Amino acid sequence: MTCSVVKELMPNYIDGLTSDETSEDIKKHLASCESCCAVYEYLRSTHPSDAAEKKKDMEFVKDLKAGVQKRKRRSILAVFAILIIGILFTRRYSVPIPFDANRMFIETVPSAFTVNDEYGWVDLTNIDGLDFQESKSVLSGKLDMMNLVWLSYRGIHNAGSWSKGRTISRNGEKVRGIYYRYTKTLWDLMLPSDLFAQSESASNYGEIYGDSAAFNGGVHEPEQREIYYLQVRNLDALDELSDKEYDALRQKAALIWSGVN
Ligand SMILES: [Zn+2]
Repeated sequence: MTCSVVKELMPNYIDGLTSDETSEDIKKHLASCESCCAVYEYLRSTHPSDAAEKKKDMEFVKDLKAGVQKRKRRSILAVFAILIIGILFTRRYSVPIPFDANRMFIETVPSAFTVNDEYGWVDLTNIDGLDFQESKSVLSGKLDMMNLVWLSYRGIHNAGSWSKGRTISRNGEKVRGIYYRYTKTLWDLMLPSDLFAQSESASNYGEIYGDSAAFNGGVHEPEQREIYYLQVRNLDALDELSDKEYDALRQKAALIWSGVN
């Protein structure tokens, strides 16, 4: 190897880019050539940080890659979190559904209550299930007669909900009104609508009248009662309304049952 070739290869040799064979030849030459050795020492001393910088570069690239990996992992986690939150939201967020008279079934069942609720209610349509004492009490007027209202809605598998009942004075007459509604979740809305076409909601059997306001000092005072269907999201918000505002909501609602209880 000539001096000129060695000098030409020197920068690559210092950077460790020459082949093992060439490196060996250069090493041998340097050991025996003072001139090339001096050039080697000079070049090495003027670029002392090359190797260190390269190492730094390598680490920088490594860090970058690690950062990208970390970000990838983070975005995968974020996608999963969004999916799970989305599913929970669509399954829990309920949407009030509009009234459909063809799907709503209303059945009135005459029943008997004790004034102090000792018997709860007795279904008078089920005479076989009525014991002798109870029938006697009904006949003698010791048990109060009340209507239970059975509400069900075709195409929904969850029960409806209702506002707190309110007794309102309307044109000098006392009327007890209640607002009723059914809801679906976004999950239900995304499913084919005919999936539940044959199912019926869990029925609410008279519960909407099962409030102690019907009994005044242990005596049941029959009064005009009305159940309206109202497509409303927040039933609790109705509690904040004045009696007049509460009653005025009838304009936006559908009457589903009316009678004396
Ligand atoms: Zn030389």
